[in-house]
Amino acid sequence: MAVILRAEHVLPIVSPVIRDGGVVVENARIVDFGGFEEIRRRHDGEAVELGSQVLMPGLVNAHCHLDYTQLRHAISPQRSFTEWIRAINSHKRALHDEDYLGAIERGFSELRKWGTTTVANIESFPELMLRMPPPPLRTWWFMEMIDIRHRFSTEDAVAGALAFFEPERPGWLGGFGLSPHAPYTASGPLFELASRASTELGMPVTTHVAESREEWEMFKSATGELYDFMLKLGRWMYDCHHSHTPLGQLAHNVDLGSRWILAHMNELDDSDFALLDALPAKPSVVHCPGSHRYFRHAVFPLERLRATGVNLCLGTDSLASTDSLSMFDEMRGLATAHPALDAAEIVAIATVNGARALGFDGGKIAIGAAADLIAFPVADTSAGVHAAVLAHRAPVRWMMLNGQILPT
Ligand SMILES: [Zn+2]
Repeated sequence: MAVILRAEHVLPIVSPVIRDGGVVVENARIVDFGGFEEIRRRHDGEAVELGSQVLMPGLVNAHCHLDYTQLRHAISPQRSFTEWIRAINSHKRALHDEDYLGAIERGFSELRKWGTTTVANIESFPELMLRMPPPPLRTWWFMEMIDIRHRFSTEDAVAGALAFFEPERPGWLGGFGLSPHAPYTASGPLFELASRASTELGMPVTTHVAESREEWEMFKSATGELYDFMLKLGRWMYDCHHSHTPLGQLAHNVDLGSRWILAHMNELDDSDFALLDALPAKPSVVHCPGSHRYFRHAVFPLERLRATGVNLCLGTDSLASTDSLSMFDEMRGLATAHPALDAAEIVAIATVNGARALGFDGGKIAIGAAADLIAFPVADTSAGVHAAVLAHRAPVRWMMLNGQILPT
């Protein structure tokens, strides 16, 4: 049974805005769209009238840690990135399974409140998935992998892996992936293993890379606060003596291709851009403007990254390093820091690009795409509908997920 949606402004993202548009949804997919009169001639059935609202794909958050939703405002900006790692580790020692389960639930409701229909969530405690209800949003669960210090017992690790890759999950929308945490916490062999597994299993793989100046110093010159901290933790440090950049070190261990989703990428030099230029299949790069501001990182090299052809996406990171899980806030953060960026491109970065990173046919209004949609009123469209989307500051009250209109 087809559902016809009608709205004053329809934003397909990958094709021009439609005034008085219609979108037809059947079996969780978009089967037709265009001007409403045209759609009316082609399809029977009653239309859901969304009035003067914008109808567009739901937002795709390409980097999030729902585990840490309860750490909002818990850690004030620290003197250094290394100090922040110390602070979050000490908070984590006081938290239990119930806290994390509650945090994940609260995180989902906050994402949904602000129009996110798909999230890439890095899960540090995969064993919790045995106790979790089906997620209320389309979710890619990335199993976090760290081998600098084993935090889990063998039983936990086995239970976690089983929970993660348990094949029968009725009602769960989305998929799975792997996340070796970062070149400073995951060894070369672990990266290699994750990379091989993701290729064989057809899964995306994500990591944090070139996030801070301290990470740069650690790999480039075997100096600095992060280097000293990791040395004290007993980390192998042989990979810090080749004068590699953090990205160069990663590329030394794995073949970076379109399955890779690289979070942050703030600290890059000419050799890194040359490396990205030369890749036959480009990775995705996720920028998290709120977290970037919190850490006062170097300017995100957006123009140079874009010139290499990587797929730029947007994420919120966790509430331990930002104060909002709203992708509207992140879109505004991107617009403020990069005023030359076109509003339409920003909206594409927050939707279809994130979906592309996950290998998911969504984040757009196109025939065959997943029917994950949002609608909300916009006050002033004189600067264009995309600019009006960026200016939206109220919760999103209408959402369709996988072809189902969610109750408000
Ligand atoms: Zn992160």
